[in-house]
Amino acid sequence: MAPAIPSVQWAQVSPKLGGPVEYKQIPVPKPGPDEILVNIKYSGVCHTDLHAMKGDWPLPVKMPLVGGHEGAGIVVSRGTLVDTVALGDHVGVKWLNGSCLACDFCETGDEPLCAKAILSGYTVDGTFQQYCVAKAAHVSPIPKNVSLDEIAPVLCAGITVYKGLKESGAKPGQVVAIVGAAGGLGSLAMQYASAMGLRVIAIDGGDEKREWCKQLGAEHYVDFTASKDLVADVKAVSPDGLGPHAVLLVAVSELPFQQAAGYVRSRGTVVAIGLPANAYLRAPVFDTVVRMISIKGSYVGSRHDGKEAIDFFSRGLIKVPIKVVPLAELGNVFTLMEEGKIAGRYVVKMPE
Ligand code: NAD
Ligand code: ZN
Ligand code: ZN
Repeated sequence: MAPAIPSVQWAQVSPKLGGPVEYKQIPVPKPGPDEILVNIKYSGVCHTDLHAMKGDWPLPVKMPLVGGHEGAGIVVSRGTLVDTVALGDHVGVKWLNGSCLACDFCETGDEPLCAKAILSGYTVDGTFQQYCVAKAAHVSPIPKNVSLDEIAPVLCAGITVYKGLKESGAKPGQVVAIVGAAGGLGSLAMQYASAMGLRVIAIDGGDEKREWCKQLGAEHYVDFTASKDLVADVKAVSPDGLGPHAVLLVAVSELPFQQAAGYVRSRGTVVAIGLPANAYLRAPVFDTVVRMISIKGSYVGSRHDGKEAIDFFSRGLIKVPIKVVPLAELGNVFTLMEEGKIAGRYVVKMPE
């Protein structure tokens, strides 16, 4: 029997740019013909949600907005055209809520680059609500034996760092520096890297985060708040002193984006993933040329990348370090995030 769907629900709503979020009741949305309604059980809180609330980026954001794009839940209703997802299925609602499925990028497994992409918790309402609408073609299937609280952060943080590691071209046995290693993306990046056979240099700030990174598989830790010469310190801990083969930038400030080209190994790759407001990448042309450095961006992942990233988790290779709090406390999570006080990922639990 189909579950009863209420007409109103609890949600966290940003009424205007800059926030703060308001915890209140709003109507339950209805899915269109190619959409499903997902009863969200848990949603991860990504730093992107904070950027969205603050209006940090040169991309217009819907207001008022229900943010959130790491939503794990159960399908409770579906549009007339949907036959790929069944009621009762467990699915993940991701940043890429939908795309045209017909352009060059969609056809070649680069859906995030689709010009018609719609974004959960940014251009359409997201997962900080009990019932969320998503395009059926884009939700990620979640095996029923997987816990919905732990899988939630995999749906953005996990997929994004897994894709970034693939884009880095680093091979088993090689070394990757993860910058912003103790945060939500970084904590998963260290583990995906280890599971892929890579060795990890973690870069973040403070002794608590040092312990955290060591526990999650980092071989070395460089404290950016204590280092007097970060470039030299990162090179010094790389096995042969020549620097890491790849750098994954998941920090939320500009300076590390300017430093990475200084310590990446010759012929190495710098992958920009973090999106600090108004920031620029900088590298000396001379060094980039004569050391054959690659610098590139990496943006979430395709549906296929999503399946692979979830599969790593399902097989027990990734421990997702979560702290679960009620949806009502989202505002406090944003405060801690802004202060850089979070290690790992906060997940909000929807009211019963
Ligand atoms: P987070 O707040 O959980 O973690 C950021 C970490 O960076 C913190 O541990 C902080 O201490 C660390 N940090 C700050 N300054 C640093 C410095 N100078 N050197 C080293 N570490 C430093 O954030 P998150 O949720 O992991 O998100 C990280 C960034 O990635 C955000 O900008 C987010 O919008 C972006 N993001 C991008 C994509 C993508 O597809 N490219 C996807 C998801 C998130
Ligand atoms: Zn995200
Ligand atoms: Zn497209």
